[in-house]
Amino acid sequence: MRHAKIVCTIGPASSSPALIDQLIESGMNVARLNFSHGTHASHGQAIVTIREAAARRKTVVAILQDLQGPRIRVGALPGDIEVQADQRVVLVGGLLRAGGQLGAQAVSPRPAVEIPITYPALARDVRPGARILIDDGLIELRACTVGNGSVECQVITGGRISTHKGVNLPGTAVSAPAVTEKDRDDLRFGVTHGVDYIALSFVRSPEDVQVAQRMVADCGGTQPIIAKIERAEAVENLPALLDVAAGVMIARGDLGVEMGPEAVPMLQKRIIAEANQRRKLVITATQMLESMTKAVRPTRAEASDVANAVFDGTDAVMLSAETARGQYPVEAVRVMDRLVRAAEEDGHRWNGRSAFVLGQSGSIPDAMCEAAASVARATNARAIVVFSESGATARLLSKQRAAVPVIAFTPNDEVLRRMTLYWGVTPFIMPHRQDPDARVREVERRLKAEKLADTGDRVVLLSGTVAGQPGGTNVLQVYQVT
Ligand code: PEP
Repeated sequence: MRHAKIVCTIGPASSSPALIDQLIESGMNVARLNFSHGTHASHGQAIVTIREAAARRKTVVAILQDLQGPRIRVGALPGDIEVQADQRVVLVGGLLRAGGQLGAQAVSPRPAVEIPITYPALARDVRPGARILIDDGLIELRACTVGNGSVECQVITGGRISTHKGVNLPGTAVSAPAVTEKDRDDLRFGVTHGVDYIALSFVRSPEDVQVAQRMVADCGGTQPIIAKIERAEAVENLPALLDVAAGVMIARGDLGVEMGPEAVPMLQKRIIAEANQRRKLVITATQMLESMTKAVRPTRAEASDVANAVFDGTDAVMLSAETARGQYPVEAVRVMDRLVRAAEEDGHRWNGRSAFVLGQSGSIPDAMCEAAASVARATNARAIVVFSESGATARLLSKQRAAVPVIAFTPNDEVLRRMTLYWGVTPFIMPHRQDPDARVREVERRLKAEKLADTGDRVVLLSGTVAGQPGGTNVLQVYQVT
């Protein structure tokens, strides 16, 4: 079995029923819907297609809604603009109106090239001397003078600027709220359509996560929030973010633009280690198999990158353009699956538990999970079975990185889907059974039916004395399948 999970971004290259089916067959565990693109109609259709395909294949697929956040972009340009080093350009901050036209604030006519930017507070936030990056950092500007709703800049690295390219303001305290009006609308849509996780972009502080959590609750949802780590403020606030969020995504694309590509490898290791210590989810994202958008094979550097994320201890690896708009979406998932399996086979040599020293959390369920992993090893057990009401115990167990599969039973459909993102966890539905003997008989039946254990195999079982009580895990048993 593969332990680390695969998240695939769904887009034009992968949204048809046939393609979703093939992605699932190839190993997709979580489908990511990127709300920076698409419409509610297209995402709604994708949700139906994913749910139907998972049901047809009798498998579990979670849906991760990824909110755009306060993404700043170049506004509508009449045509591409070529800028050269040392040239002066004027960035004009404004609101994007329906139809894509920018309602820029009034600026006096200037001889320099004017570029509309979809951020009204641009001139309020940016200070002279600040770096401004366009198009994934390919074009670099330095702010010279600020005022009158615009920022006059010197071009440091030139290039071609086109409509809607992303703009990053590294080092600038961006005052835009982390959850924009569009995000609120999208979040409401996500909760009403029953997505399983919600990812927040350009998070800065735990308060940003709490705002989203309150919105989810106000919409009647319980979706866990994944904070995308892509700004310097998020890196600074990592421990506090991990305390409040269900998990983090290492959004290496914007993280590399904001903090420089040289910072990404160390940040990846640190974020994964801290997430694991706090027993929170961690997804490693962006450009993992980027060359496979155009080629049927990955580069050797990409193969190493995937393996290293596995060695670092990530819960999941993510495909973005590779599956959303690449030429080989299915092949990308197959390759990802192979790379992860190969890395895991040999992974104990390169990481073991030292790469993510878990430390003790002091909680009874966590101590029970540590004991379960240790007993499974000592008794050569075939699997660890856990009854998890909210998914919390299954997540704690997953973080122990046991060598054997974790089979998690829950009575709740939403929890079932959430648990499919957990490293090494295979989730199943099982209604509450108070009678412990009936529970064990049902577990045996399911393990045999799913070929997860056979007569004579030892199985470690984690449960609570009162079935159905979240956080009540306090019983550890070892038994032999009859
Ligand atoms: C990233 O920047 O790496 C990322 C995952 O965010 P997005 O794809 O939403 O820009």
